[in-house]
Amino acid sequence: MNDTIAAISTPIGLGGIAIIRISGPQAFEIADQIFFSVHGKPSQFTSHTIHYGRIIENGTTIDEVMLTILRAPRTYTAEDTVEINCHGGMITAKSILNLCLKHGARLAEPGEFTKRAFLNGRIDLTQAEAVMDLIQARTERAQIVAAHALEGRLLIRIEETYNRLSKIVAHLEAHLDFPEEDIPPAARDQLVFNLQDIIESLQDLLTTADKGQILREGVQVVIIGRPNVGKSSLMNALLGKDRSIVTPLPGTTRDTVEATLDINGIPIQLIDTAGFRKTTGLAESFGIERSHKAVSISQLVLHVLDISKPYNDAELELRNLYLKKPVIYVFNKVDKKQKFVPPTYFDITESVKISAINGTGINELKEKISKLIWHGKVGEHESDIAINSRHSICLSSTINNISQGINMLNSGESNELISHCLRIGLNSLGEITGKNATEDIITQIFSRFCIGK
Ligand code: GDP
Repeated sequence: MNDTIAAISTPIGLGGIAIIRISGPQAFEIADQIFFSVHGKPSQFTSHTIHYGRIIENGTTIDEVMLTILRAPRTYTAEDTVEINCHGGMITAKSILNLCLKHGARLAEPGEFTKRAFLNGRIDLTQAEAVMDLIQARTERAQIVAAHALEGRLLIRIEETYNRLSKIVAHLEAHLDFPEEDIPPAARDQLVFNLQDIIESLQDLLTTADKGQILREGVQVVIIGRPNVGKSSLMNALLGKDRSIVTPLPGTTRDTVEATLDINGIPIQLIDTAGFRKTTGLAESFGIERSHKAVSISQLVLHVLDISKPYNDAELELRNLYLKKPVIYVFNKVDKKQKFVPPTYFDITESVKISAINGTGINELKEKISKLIWHGKVGEHESDIAINSRHSICLSSTINNISQGINMLNSGESNELISHCLRIGLNSLGEITGKNATEDIITQIFSRFCIGK
């Protein structure tokens, strides 16, 4: 990379500090022209030191700043880097950035600093993606998994397997020049055994895909129930604060109310719906339409019922709205006298009794929600790796190619065909870390980043 890029790396808005980052061969030269300090010029400063000074344009001070000098290759991008900490706010950081651009820097594209770290070989694609996951993590658990990937835990797993498969392919390819020399049966069996072992290890990684999806994308949970059963109260009890308005009048939550909460590390998007009852009120019917939509996009339904009231067939109508979705029946108001007796045709699977008002059963409900979501998706062992859908596609393709290779070995196909097939699998595996990634894939990954990262 022979040009120098610059961007504001902190969010735009009011804040104590804003950071302008400059990376590339002219970073120090540019800093020399805009930063003035009694201690000398940035290009003379020792690496990894920070200095007080002023940013001056045409004799006018723009701000008093702290400037950090980071010499290649021990920097985020592995290039010469300057970071200027100025006062937060919309105008100051922009003025300093403009000054950098005026003196020869180019405005960085989204994710370009991280892209440079990748292109300069400091990190691989899984680590670059981890940077993004870390920024976007919505729960502590998601953050920890991302931090592990950033450390290179997924990279190490992929590299190990890549090297094993690569040795096998090289071995087969070495035999290509001597087609008359068949691989002896014992060696063939050993090859099949090793390939099967590789498949198992890749399948193990593949099982972490669901967990990855849950942690990255979260899960939509919708609260439904007849008016006044305590949906809003439940929402508040789960959130531990007054998010939706609770009143004793039916139909007070006229629209859907949404909030995010963390249940055992799962980012949950909780949606409280308006009562599903026939209405002529415009605002409420709009809310009901939104509620139908909320149910359709959700992965789990909390069907709230008032245990202090007799059963009503309207519950069946409600059930028709979500039919095949996983559901937990939440019997609310257990602090009151219980009158609810479900008829035999209203079967109840998962259920929990709560009082949204005094908090009874709320923890049990949270446990149930988390169990239902994690069920069968994390497996027995708690892996610290959670792959994303891109990794998943590459892994599946590698597994397919190795399986084909095994079939070919068993049916005595030529080494040439077998090694060709395994080579394709190897390339897919290399796509995960970026070894064999095309320009398109790389562009796609980094375009999802924010400016300044
Ligand atoms: P929604 O229409 O389903 O959202 O119901 P709300 O949450 O607005 O609650 C309706 C009424 O039921 C309010 O007066 C709440 O205070 C009351 N309520 C909610 N949960 C409980 C509970 O667990 N016990 C009792 N006794 N009252 C509750």
